[in-house]
Amino acid sequence: MQIPPFSLEAQISEIGDEIEEALIKVFRSGKYIGGEEVASFEKAFALATETSYSVSCNSGTDALILALRALNIGQGDEVITSSFSFFATAEAITSVGARPVFVDIDSKNYLMDLDLIEKAITPRTKAILPVHLFGHPLDMDKIMAIAESNNLKVVEDCAQAAGAYWRGKPVGSYGDIGCFSFFPTKNLGAAGDGGAITTNDFDLAKTIRELAIHGMPKRYFHTNIGYNSRLDSLQAAILNVKLIRLNKWIEQRKEIAINYMNQLSAIDSIELPSNTFVNNSGHSWNQFVIRIMDNSFIKNIKSNSDDVFDNLNRDLFKTELHRLGVNTIIYYPIPIHLQPAYKNLEYKEGSLPVTEKVCSQVISLPIFPELKSIQQSYVIDKIKELFKK
Ligand SMILES: *Cc1c(COP(=O)(O)O)cnc(C)c1O
Repeated sequence: MQIPPFSLEAQISEIGDEIEEALIKVFRSGKYIGGEEVASFEKAFALATETSYSVSCNSGTDALILALRALNIGQGDEVITSSFSFFATAEAITSVGARPVFVDIDSKNYLMDLDLIEKAITPRTKAILPVHLFGHPLDMDKIMAIAESNNLKVVEDCAQAAGAYWRGKPVGSYGDIGCFSFFPTKNLGAAGDGGAITTNDFDLAKTIRELAIHGMPKRYFHTNIGYNSRLDSLQAAILNVKLIRLNKWIEQRKEIAINYMNQLSAIDSIELPSNTFVNNSGHSWNQFVIRIMDNSFIKNIKSNSDDVFDNLNRDLFKTELHRLGVNTIIYYPIPIHLQPAYKNLEYKEGSLPVTEKVCSQVISLPIFPELKSIQQSYVIDKIKELFKK
């Protein structure tokens, strides 16, 4: 058996016909930018995130850039965030001219360690940019309290967390601005790039809408240097079909996650993801990430271990799983602060020890709503085989 890490085409049997119909409707309308589909998606997305306004844009990266620009964050400013994220989180901060300041992560949930935020604040700090990584919601009450007492803005990176919530409220509804991505592998994925911001602030929504269209509040009248960052009408049509199914798909992901948790909990060498089902909070399970804590599986592997033995245990484990037909992805092998592109920030190896350690141990197991129970069992059996005593 071959198990893919994700399968985007698995949704075709459920929604293929509806999507085709929606796409043809847009195509025949001749309205490819803006129009009804974009407007109705924005309305529905604001409703789904329990916010007053949602403005769509071209990507999650753009959503972050637009959010920071609308908050007037730029040259000379610092933004506190996590180095354990997709590169775009920090890239957006740098693109507006500000400096990302990384705090280490919590070793249990892999999210920004909230106890380290206040120590990282300087007179130049303008905002906190928390990342709900893998779909695990952060404690937004704590973050908002820290932001308030230090007069900081909060931009939530919800790229992997559409549908996740903290104490009964969706992520993206707590901070000044929430940023979402509709990249195909996210929980709410388009057939291409897409993104959106959410906010309860009318002025911020208005500014972001203008910035996304060349800083142009009226046609050919430009008040700002902006961007060309719109959600295509065709992508909006697809997202409208998918949004109404998002919660159902998350439930399916959650069932898979619970199955993995139950079945793998007896293996001491595997650290399972933390679960925050307490406090009426919910994970979106965009990824199911485990940590390989030791090399006790080595005696059971069949691959020629000589040439890979020097590798990290995790890489060897991944190679062996791949050989057995279970395909996985590493989110993320290198923390952002150690990426060559950020040499200039002068973070040394060892400066964020938990982040660095976790990056060397994590591996994401296959998870997507259509992953059948027989496939889940296959993944579980192969892992159990590798760790059998
Ligand atoms: C995907 C992602 C982004 C960027 O979104 P794009 O739509 O790919 O630009 C930003 N932050 C995180 C955490 C992501 O996973």
